[in-house]
Amino acid sequence: MPNDEAKVTGADSDARSQRVELVWNALRGVPDPEIPPVSIVELGMIAQVRIDTEGIDGGAVDGGGIDSGAVDGGAATGGVVVVDLTPTFAGCPALDLIREDIRKAVQGAGEADVKVNVVFDPPWTTDRITEEGRRKLKEFGLAPPGKRCTGGELPDLEKTACPYCDSTNTKVESIFGPTLCRSIHYCDACLQSFEHFKAV
Ligand SMILES: [Zn+2]
Repeated sequence: MPNDEAKVTGADSDARSQRVELVWNALRGVPDPEIPPVSIVELGMIAQVRIDTEGIDGGAVDGGGIDSGAVDGGAATGGVVVVDLTPTFAGCPALDLIREDIRKAVQGAGEADVKVNVVFDPPWTTDRITEEGRRKLKEFGLAPPGKRCTGGELPDLEKTACPYCDSTNTKVESIFGPTLCRSIHYCDACLQSFEHFKAV
């Protein structure tokens, strides 16, 4: 982020990147409400973390009723931590909960003022899920999404690999599971139904 204020020194920017790193660490501890073993960072939901000390980010995006009383005072924590959140699915109802969890986590890392922007550009895709995130999805019994085909065509849901036995002898039971994000499948090999995190 360009900053042409002459008083900003190298030390300031070092301190700032340290704070950003601490915020990332805090975010790694924020679980996805629907898939608690997987963090929102592992799901690729955090597009950007930055510290805004210039007050240019004053849009009314953050509607939360957080009491951000003594904000710009602290020397060590001046400025607003801005977290850009890319929601996994626009229809996921857990978004408000996630925003609240992000605020709490970042405040727990010593930041007084946190703003969570919901951004749709660039859009979240399942390709943003980290390898560790995919592994945990599978452990959770949720078949991880396939990588998207380059042509933009979604993989065939009918052949989703079972997270329990890895068989692809499965069929779709319902295109919409408990949330829009998931579909429900049945494995003909181990005779269990499972959910699949749909690729988008
Ligand atoms: Zn199976």
